[in-house]
Amino acid sequence: MADFGQTVIIDRREATYVPCPLCHSSEVETLFVRHQFAYQRCCRCQMVRVNPQLTAAAIKALYRKGYESKSRFHAKGPLLIPSQQRRILAKLADIANQRGRLLDVGCFEGQFLRVAQALGWQVVGTEISTMAASFARETCGLDVRIGALETLALPAHSFDAVTFHDVVEHLPQPVHTLAEAARVLPPGGALYIWTPNFDSLTRRLILGQQWGAVIFPWHLCYFTPATLTRAIEQAGFELVSITTRNWLLDRRDRYLALQNKAGLPPRSPSVLRLHRLLDRASHPFFAWASDRGWHLGAQIGLFARKNR
Ligand SMILES: [Zn+2]
Repeated sequence: MADFGQTVIIDRREATYVPCPLCHSSEVETLFVRHQFAYQRCCRCQMVRVNPQLTAAAIKALYRKGYESKSRFHAKGPLLIPSQQRRILAKLADIANQRGRLLDVGCFEGQFLRVAQALGWQVVGTEISTMAASFARETCGLDVRIGALETLALPAHSFDAVTFHDVVEHLPQPVHTLAEAARVLPPGGALYIWTPNFDSLTRRLILGQQWGAVIFPWHLCYFTPATLTRAIEQAGFELVSITTRNWLLDRRDRYLALQNKAGLPPRSPSVLRLHRLLDRASHPFFAWASDRGWHLGAQIGLFARKNR
């Protein structure tokens, strides 16, 4: 095991060795190695992390490159309100006792902010990609602050709800960032997190290390319902509910796509339709299993409340 803080170069990018982001232990079990990056599980708290991890500067350069291949989908045509997002916002209002001020961390181009705004919330986003933030500001007229949440010094107790969609797995210090989310909420404020489930059937039994959600170098850590619950509790929240859903059967290798100028190969419309159909058909099964504490779906949806 290399020393923590030691820098190495992988594919011309700088990376460093890090301890467990939840309990700071150095005892690990290496689960597998892909593209020279080890996927390690902490022996003490079971948190899974990538080691070594790209430095903040290397990651920033990657996000810039990644942005160019994304489509600006949501600003075309009228705003669509997915039923899942409607349910998330209703539950946040329920936890916070109001439809008030909402902060979406890592809001990208502001799709969720637009939905929340349409449903009566006052919204602010944060985003580290300058290009995505500019798009959200200029095209959608949204209030998006550029930078990592903990560098923005937002006033304490200034929001009623904070959301993280596909963000916590990108954070080098997730507990630190979640604690900052707790600071901007009043006691009783609401939190929602959506992130891949490392304990899912898809990862454990179907795709293993070929699972497309294992898309280093963007993802630095991988949660399970147990480790995500521990992370929010360490940050000052109490769990309200946790469910998992979907299969997320994509196995395309984003790291390889990064080395290749053509980018990620598109999925055929018939494969996409099949995946959507499988997800829809599995909703009752994953919901039934989640009610029994079996969190088998590929994505975790967690609601929490800031401690009073
Ligand atoms: Zn640990």
